[in-house]
Amino acid sequence: MKAHDGMYIDGAWRPAAGRDVIEVVNPADEQIIGTVPAGTAADVDAAVRAARAALPAWAATAPAERAARLSALRDVLVARKDEIAETVTAELGAPLAFSQTVHAGVPIAVAASYAELAATYSFEEKAGNSTVLLEPVGVVAAITPWNYPLHQIVAKAAPALAAGCTVVLKPAEDTPLTAQLFAEAVHEAGIPAGVFNLVTGLGPVAGQALAEHPDVDLVSFTGSTAVGKRIGATAGGAVKKVALELGGKSANVILPSADLAKAVNVGVANVMSNSGQTCSAWTRMLVHRDQYDEAVGLAAAAAAKYGDRIGPVVNAKQRDRVRGYIDKGVAEGARLVAGGPESPREQGCFVSPTVFADVTEDMTIAQEEIFGPVLSILRYDDEDDALRIANGTVYGLAGAVWAGDEAEAVAFARRLETGQVDINGGRFNPLAPFGGYKQSGVGRELGTHGLSEYLQTKSLQF
Ligand code: NAP
Ligand code: MG
Repeated sequence: MKAHDGMYIDGAWRPAAGRDVIEVVNPADEQIIGTVPAGTAADVDAAVRAARAALPAWAATAPAERAARLSALRDVLVARKDEIAETVTAELGAPLAFSQTVHAGVPIAVAASYAELAATYSFEEKAGNSTVLLEPVGVVAAITPWNYPLHQIVAKAAPALAAGCTVVLKPAEDTPLTAQLFAEAVHEAGIPAGVFNLVTGLGPVAGQALAEHPDVDLVSFTGSTAVGKRIGATAGGAVKKVALELGGKSANVILPSADLAKAVNVGVANVMSNSGQTCSAWTRMLVHRDQYDEAVGLAAAAAAKYGDRIGPVVNAKQRDRVRGYIDKGVAEGARLVAGGPESPREQGCFVSPTVFADVTEDMTIAQEEIFGPVLSILRYDDEDDALRIANGTVYGLAGAVWAGDEAEAVAFARRLETGQVDINGGRFNPLAPFGGYKQSGVGRELGTHGLSEYLQTKSLQF
C-alpha cells in the first residue's frame, strides 16, 4: 500500500518533527502493509498554525466557491473510489464489496451533500430588527476512529470546509492510509494550502496535543466514551466548542404485530455488518415473550449463514476484547445460540458471528458496547416493559422499531431516548442528523444540523 512518510501541512507533505512511526497492519493476515509517521506536539502545532493562517481567506470566500471546491473533492473521491475501497479493506479488513458500497460510497454521498448545501444554505437570517450572520467557528480539530475511516473524516471535514472553517485531522492509528488518501484528494480538488491539514499519530500524544491546543476553536471527536469524556472536560476548561460522537448500545424493538422473520433477519445483518464495529448497531434485539423462541431460532440461523463471509475485526486487541465479552456473557448465564469465543480461523483477527439468547438487562453484554459481531436477544412482557429495557442504558445513539403499521412503530419511536430510529427497516439517509442522546454524545453530524455545528452567530441590530 502507498504510504507518505510525512504530514500534510500547509498544502504539502512535510517531514515529521520526530522519528517515531506507526506500523499499519492488515487484520485479515496480520501483515504490515505500510508505515506512517507518529506525530508529536510539534507537528500538531505546525498544522494548527497553518490552519490559523489559512482561516481568514477561506472564511471570506463566497459560499459558491467553497461549494465548487467541495464538488471537486467529491469528483476526486468518485475517480479514486476503487483505491479508497482497497485501502480500507487493507487496513480495516472489511470485505471489498462492503468497502466499495459503504466505506467509499457513503463518504462520496456526504461530500456531495455538502457541496450542495454550501451553495444553497442561507448564511444570513432575519430575526425582527436583527440580521443574524452565521460565521465559521474557526480552526477545527477533528479526531476520528477507525471503524468507518473515510466516512468519519468526511462527516467532519466536509461541513467544516462548507462553513468556512479550516481543519487539522488526527485520524485513528489503525487507519492512517485512508486519511492520507483523503489528504491527497483535498490537494487534487484545489482546496487552498492550510485549509485542511493531516497529522497522523497516537491518540494520547498527537490526539491529546490537538485537543488541548490553545489555538483550536472547536474539537470534533468520534470514538470511545472514555476518551470523549476527557476531551469534553478539556474543551470545557478552555471554553471551546466541542462535538462528541461516542458509543451506543442500540435497541431493535420488534413489536408483536411486526413481520418477525424480516425484522430478525435485518436485525442480524445490521449487527454483523462491518464485523459489528458500528457505533449505531442494534446490538440488543427486544422480542415479545410469545415470539421469543421463534425469534431466537431465526437469529441463530441467520448468524450461522454468515460463516466465513464476515471480515476480521480491526486488530488483535479488539479481537481479544470482543472475545472477553463473549466469555463474560457465558459466565453471567446468557445462552450461546450461534458463534462463541473460539477463533473461526487460525490466522487473522476474526471473531465468529455470535448470538446470545436469555440475555437480561443487568448483564454486561446488555449494557456495554462490545464493538464486535455479537447480538444479545432480550425478552419483554409488554410495550412498557420493552420501552423500559430499550431506554435502560447510559447510551442513546440509534435504534429500530418494527410493527405491522408505521403509525404504531412511530408512536413507540417517539418514546425512545435516542438520536436516530429506523422504522420498519428505513434506509440510511446522509441528510438526517446523526448523534446521540445521553452519553452517546453532544452535537449532530450530517445535513444542515451537521453544518450548523461549525457555525456561530453574530447578530446585527438595526
Ligand atoms: P478511541 O481510543 O476513543 O479512538 C478514537 C480516536 O481518538 C482515535 O483517533 C484515537 O487515537 C484518539 N484518541 C485516543 N486517546 C486520545 C486522547 N487521550 N486524546 C485525544 N485523542 C485520543 O477508540 P478506539 O481505541 O479506537 O476504540 C475503543 C472503543 O471505542 C471501541 O471498542 C468502541 O467501543 C469505541 N468506538 C466507538 C466508535 C464510535 O463511532 N462511536 C468508534 C470507534 C471506537 P488512536 O487511534 O491512536 O487510539
Ligand atoms: Mg485507542
